[in-house]
Amino acid sequence: MSFEHDQKRLGDALATINGNIKLAFSHQIEDVILLDLLAKLGILPQIAVFTLDTHKLFEQSLAHQREVERYFGIEIAIFCATSEELARIEREIGEWGMRESLEKRKECCRVRKILPLRRALEGVSAWISGIRAAQSMTRAHVGLVEDDAQFGLQKINPLFDWDDAKVWEYASVRNLPVNPLYAQGFASIGCAPCTRAIEPGENIRAGRWWWEDPAHKECGLHRR
Ligand code: SF4
Repeated sequence: MSFEHDQKRLGDALATINGNIKLAFSHQIEDVILLDLLAKLGILPQIAVFTLDTHKLFEQSLAHQREVERYFGIEIAIFCATSEELARIEREIGEWGMRESLEKRKECCRVRKILPLRRALEGVSAWISGIRAAQSMTRAHVGLVEDDAQFGLQKINPLFDWDDAKVWEYASVRNLPVNPLYAQGFASIGCAPCTRAIEPGENIRAGRWWWEDPAHKECGLHRR
C-alpha cells in the first residue's frame, strides 16, 4: 500500500491555512502516524505539538509520550486544568463520580479536557486531529477539513477515511512507537477510569465510557 497520496493530501490541506497550526497528541497510534507524515513532508518543526494532561492518564501513555518525543526529536507542550479547577472537580466528582451520571462525566471532561484545549488553541488558525470516520457513529461524517465552530478555527483530519487495517499497516511499515496499551487489548486510549480493553468484534471505541449510550461517547473535543 502506498501512502504518498495521503502525504500529498495533508500537505495540500495545510497549504490552505494562513497562520499557526497545532497538532493534538492524545497517545493514539493515529497521532504518531500524523507526526510521521509531517516529518516526511519536512514540516514537523513548524507544527507545535501539544497534549492534554487530565491527571487521569495511564502510566503507559505518559511513558509512550516521552518515547514519541525522543523518536521525533520534539517537545510536546502540556496543557491541563488549573489547580483550582482540579481541586473543585476532585471535591465534587471524586475518583469515580464520572460513572454516576452523564452530567458528572461531561463536567469532568469539560474541566480536564475542553478548558485546557481552549487554552491550547488560543491564537491558532487550525488544529490537526487524528479522528477517523470509521471509529464510531459519532464520527461517521468527519471530513478532511472542517470548520470547528466550537473553537473558532479550522480542523484538519488527515486520516478521516483510513480504516483500521491501513492504520496498522502504516505503523508496521514505518516501525513507529506504539502505546503498549494496544497490546493489552485497548483499541482507543483515554483516561484510566474511563477506558477499558475491548473484546473481539467490539467497535474500537467500545472501551471508552462503556457504560454510556454510544450516541454520547465523545468528551466534547470533537463536537458534531
Ligand atoms: S475521560 Fe473520564 S477521567 Fe478523563 S476527563 Fe473525561 S470523565 Fe474525566
